[in-house]
Amino acid sequence: MSKEKIFIAEHDPSIAREVAAALERAGYLVAGQAEHGETTVQMVEALRPDLVLMEMRLRGRMNGVEAARKIHTDFDIPVLFISTQADTLTMQTAMLARAYGVLFTPFDTRELKFHIAMTLYKHSMERKLRESEERYALAVRAANDGIWDWNLKTNEIYYSPRWKEMLGYRDDEIGTSPEEWFRRIHPDDQEQVQANLVAHIKGISPQFQYEYRIQHANGSYLWVLTRGLAVRDSKGAAYRMAGAQSDITARKLAEEQLAHDAVHDALTGLPNRVLFLDRLQNRIERTRRNPNDLFAVMFLDLDRFKVVNDSLGHAVGDELLVTVANRLKRCLRPEDTVSRLGGDEFAILVDTVRDVTDARQVADRIKGRLMTTTLLGNVERATTASMGIVLSNPRYTSAGELLRDADAAMYRAKALGGNQHQVFDDSMHISAVDLIRLEGELKRAVEREEWLIYYQPIISLTTGKPVGMEALIRWQHPQRGLLAPKEFIQVAEDTGLILPIGEYILRTACRQARLWRETGRPYLWVSVNISPRQFQEKILVEQVSQILSETGLPAAGLRLEITESLAMRDVSHTMKLINDLKALGVESTLDDFGTGYSSLSYLKQFPFRALKIDRSFIRDIQPGQNTQSLVTAILAMARSLRLEVIAEGVETDEQLTFLRSLACDNVQGFLLSPPIPADELNRLLG
Ligand code: C2E
Ligand code: MG
Ligand code: MG
Repeated sequence: MSKEKIFIAEHDPSIAREVAAALERAGYLVAGQAEHGETTVQMVEALRPDLVLMEMRLRGRMNGVEAARKIHTDFDIPVLFISTQADTLTMQTAMLARAYGVLFTPFDTRELKFHIAMTLYKHSMERKLRESEERYALAVRAANDGIWDWNLKTNEIYYSPRWKEMLGYRDDEIGTSPEEWFRRIHPDDQEQVQANLVAHIKGISPQFQYEYRIQHANGSYLWVLTRGLAVRDSKGAAYRMAGAQSDITARKLAEEQLAHDAVHDALTGLPNRVLFLDRLQNRIERTRRNPNDLFAVMFLDLDRFKVVNDSLGHAVGDELLVTVANRLKRCLRPEDTVSRLGGDEFAILVDTVRDVTDARQVADRIKGRLMTTTLLGNVERATTASMGIVLSNPRYTSAGELLRDADAAMYRAKALGGNQHQVFDDSMHISAVDLIRLEGELKRAVEREEWLIYYQPIISLTTGKPVGMEALIRWQHPQRGLLAPKEFIQVAEDTGLILPIGEYILRTACRQARLWRETGRPYLWVSVNISPRQFQEKILVEQVSQILSETGLPAAGLRLEITESLAMRDVSHTMKLINDLKALGVESTLDDFGTGYSSLSYLKQFPFRALKIDRSFIRDIQPGQNTQSLVTAILAMARSLRLEVIAEGVETDEQLTFLRSLACDNVQGFLLSPPIPADELNRLLG
C-alpha cells in the first residue's frame, strides 16, 4: 500500500521539523513544506498531496484561512489545522476555512495518526457522496426531468426550476404548496393520480408512477410521466417522497397518431373495417338493452369502379374514392359512421332509424348525392353505387353477421343492375353449397311439379264478399315440407327456373279461376304475381293469351301483379307491357305500393287498374299515428288517378275499421283469411 503524502505549511522551523518527524513515525510521507500562504497554494497545486497540515496563522499576504479554503475548493484536498490555542476564535476560524479539524500542539503521534486517518476517511466519503450527487444531477439534467421533493411532515414540496419551466413558469412563480401540482392536473386524471400516490405512500405499491395530463401556463395540457419513491422510517411510515416529472407529450401524440392510423383508412381518412366493426358491435349492445332503439347498416359498392381504375388510372380512382367518402359523410349525421372497408366498398352505420323507410331515405339521399357529376381526369362522370341495407334485429348478435347480410343485399342490388338499394331478406343469405343444392332441388321440383298454389281472398269492403283471389305459390319439398316463396323464389329467379314455374302458376291459377267462374262466382278473378324475369320475357303477353284460351278463362278473370320497384325499373317497357295486356283484356295491379318510390307523373301514365298498398303501411296503422295520414294520402292520390285500392296485410279490426272509414275498396289479410289451398277455400265459401 502506498503511503499517503502529507504537505506541511508551517513557518516555525522547529515545529515543522517536529511535525515531519512525527509524520514519518506514523508511516506517512512528507510531500513538501512551505512557510507562506502563496507558496503553500502553489506547491500543493504542483505536488497534489493527500492532505495538508497547516498552521492557522501563516505568514505572507495570504493567511491560513484563505489558503485552506482555496486548497479545499480548488484542489479538493483536505486541510487539518495546527494551533496552539483551543479557544472559540480558533474554532470559528477553522470552520470558516472549511478545515477538517484542529490539532493542538504539543501532540503525540497517536493523536496525529488518528486525526489524519479520520480526515482522509471523511474526505473520501464526501467525495463519493458528491460524485454520486453530481452523477444524479447530471442524469436528471440530461433527461430534462423536473424534480420534486415532498416533505410529508410539513406538507411542502420543493419543485425544481425545470419542473416549473416545463409548465411554463419562472422559478419564483410557483411556491411550495402541493396544490401547485395537484390543481393543475387534468380533471379527468385527478382521481387516478391521487389514488396512485396514496397507494404508494401507504406502502401498497412499490413505487409511484403515472402518466397524466397537466395544465401549462398557456392553458393547454401536456402529458407527463411522474415517478416517485417514498422514504420511510423504521416503522415503514413515509415521511418524504421525491421523484421526477418528464414531458411525454410528443410520445403520447405519436401513440395517438399510431392508434388513429391503425383504425383509419389512409386514403380517405374514414374509419376502417376494424373500427367499423367495433362501433357496430357497441351499437348492437345498445339495442340489446333497448330493443326499440333501431339502427341500420348499409353496404355500398361503387358500380363499375374497376372501369374507372383501369381506363383512367389509379390516381383518378383514388380521387374518386376520396370524393365519394366526402359525399357520403355529408349525407349522414355526425353520430353515423361511414367507413371504407377496402377497394370501392364502404359501410355505413346509420345510428338511429325508426323503420326501414328511414334507411331507404338515407340510401336515396346517397344515390342522389353520388349522381352529381365529378370531374375525373378530364372526363365528367356521374357515380353510381349498389347498396344493401340491413335493419337491426334482436336476432343479430355480432357485427360480422350484420355486415355479411348487408353485403348480400348489396350483391342483390348489383345483380339487379346497380344504382339502387336492396333491403336484406332471409332469402339472400344462403351459402354457396346450399345454393347449389337448392338449384338442383328446384330443377327436380320443376320436373315433378312439386308446387301447391294457395289462394288468399281479396274482399270488397262495399259488399264484404271476395272479388278476387291472389295466387301464392308454395313448394311441397319432399324433405323440408311446405316452403314459403321467400325460401326459393329468388334462386328460381336467378337461375331462370322462374320461367317454367311462373308458367305453371299461371296455368293452374287460370284453371282454378275458370272452375270458380263456372260454380256460381262469375265475377271472381285470380291475381298472379309476375317476377322480374317473366316481366322481361318477350313472350309473356303471348303466353298469357295462350293460357287463357287453353284454360277457357275470360281475360277479365285474370289479373297480374307487378311490384312497384319492378314497374319503375324500365318505365317504357312497363308501359308497353301493361298496355298490351290491357289490349288482351287482362288488368294489372301495382303491388307493394309505397316501397318503390314511384313518382306521381309516372303513375299517371301507367294504365294500372289497381294499386296495392304495401303491408308495411297497414301494419303501422295504430290510433293517432302518422302512417294513418300516409295511407289517407295514398288513397286520396289513387282516387284522383281513378285507381282501385287494395290494402294488403290487414291483421286487426282497428286496421279494418280505419280502412273502411277511408272507403278503401278492397282488403286482403290474415284477419279475413290467410292464403289456403283451393279446396279449403271452396269449403269456406260454401
Ligand atoms: P306479395 O305478392 O305481396 O304477397 C302477399 C304476401 O303477404 C304473401 O306472402 C301473403 O301470405 C302475405 N300476407 C297476406 N296477408 C297477410 C297478413 O295479414 N299479414 C302478413 N304479415 N302477411 C300477409 P307469401 O305467400 O309468403 O309471398 C311472399 C311474396 O312472394 C309475395 O308477396 C310475392 O312477391 C312472392 N310470391 C308469392 N307467390 C308468388 C308466385 O307465384 N310468383 C311470383 N313471381 N312471386 C310470388
Ligand atoms: Mg302480390
Ligand atoms: Mg304485396
